[in-house]
Amino acid sequence: MIIQDVINHLHNLAPLAYAEDFDNVGLLVGDKNETVSGILVTLDTLEAVVDEAIENNCNLIVSFHPIIFSGLKKLTGKTYVERVVIKAIQHNIAIFSIHTALDNALQGVNSIICDQLGLTNKKILIPQSGTIKKLQTYVPKANAEALRKSLFNAGAGDIGNYESCSFNVEGEGTYLGNENSNPVLGEKGKLHIEKEIAISVTFKKHLESNVLKTLFDAHPYEEIAYEISTLDNTNQHIGIGMIGELNEAMTTEDCLKFIKDRMNTECIRHSKPLNTSIKRIAVLGGSGSFAISAAKAAKADILVTSDLKYHDFFSAENSIVLADIGHYESEQFTKSFLVDYLSKKITNFAIILSKTNTNPIKYL
Ligand SMILES: [Zn+2]
Repeated sequence: MIIQDVINHLHNLAPLAYAEDFDNVGLLVGDKNETVSGILVTLDTLEAVVDEAIENNCNLIVSFHPIIFSGLKKLTGKTYVERVVIKAIQHNIAIFSIHTALDNALQGVNSIICDQLGLTNKKILIPQSGTIKKLQTYVPKANAEALRKSLFNAGAGDIGNYESCSFNVEGEGTYLGNENSNPVLGEKGKLHIEKEIAISVTFKKHLESNVLKTLFDAHPYEEIAYEISTLDNTNQHIGIGMIGELNEAMTTEDCLKFIKDRMNTECIRHSKPLNTSIKRIAVLGGSGSFAISAAKAAKADILVTSDLKYHDFFSAENSIVLADIGHYESEQFTKSFLVDYLSKKITNFAIILSKTNTNPIKYL
C-alpha cells in the first residue's frame, strides 16, 4: 500500500474539493508514491507527535489541522512549525491534513459531535453553494441510453436519496464537417441533420474530471457538444456545522452539564441561560463565531462551538445560548473517528491513535 491509497480512502470520506479556500489541506510533506509502513492519527502535528511516529515506525501522519498553514519561507528550525517539517523530512515521514474537508463532510467533525451528544434529525447547518454542477450534452438518439448509464456510473445523476436522475429532450442537431473532419454519422462537406437527445444531469463538483472523462469515452461523436455550469443551489449534504435534536428537552443548566460530560471538557464559557428548555442543538467544531446567525436562523436553542470572543456572547440576545467548550475539546473525538474509519478500510496493519495531547490551552 502506498500513501496515495490511504489518501484515496480519506478522499472518499471527505473530498478535498470541499475544503475552505483559506485552508491548506492534502499531502503537505512527503511523496505520495512511498510505501506506507504505518499510520499515526493526530489532531495537530507537533514535534512530540513526529517522535511518536518514529517510535512506532509510522511514515505517514494523518493530521486534522495542517502544520503548514500560511506558507513557509525559511526552514531553519526557529519555529515549532519549521522544526516539525524538518524532523518529518529527516525521518522520511509524510504529513497529510484533512481539516475543513472533514468539517464540511456529512460524516465529519460535526456529525461526530452530534453523535457524542446523542442528537437525532441531524442536518447541515450551513450548506455549501456552488458545489453542484450541471452537464448538458447532445447525443444521437440511439446512443442516449448507453451514455446516460455511463454518466450515472461515473457518479452523475445523484440527488439526495435518488440516483440515475436526468432530464432528456428530443430535438435535431445539425453540423457540417470540413475536409479534416471524420463524422461518425453523415458525410464531411455536407450539412447533416441528426435526431439527438439533449441529456441534462447534475453532479458533485469533486466528480467533474471523472464525469468529463466518461463523457469523452462514451460519446460516439468526433467533436462532442456539451456545456458545464455551476449551480447556485445549496448542497444539503456538504457544509459546515450541524443541527440536531435531543430526545428530551433540558434546562440550560442541565444541558450545559450534559455537554460538559459528553464532550469531556473542563470548562464551558457560556452566555445567559434561556428561560425556556433546550431541545435543538447546533454544533460547529473549532472556531464557530461566524455560525451564530445561522444557528439562530435554524432556531437552535444553543450553539456548541469554540473560540468565542467577549463581544460574540452579547449577540446571544436572549434567543440562543452560546457555549464555548474549547477548540481542542470540540474536535478531540475526530482522532478516534479517523482511526476507526481507516482501520475498517485498511486491515493489513494497525492505524495508531497518537497518545500526545496536543491541546495548547491549560485550565487552572
Ligand atoms: Zn480546529
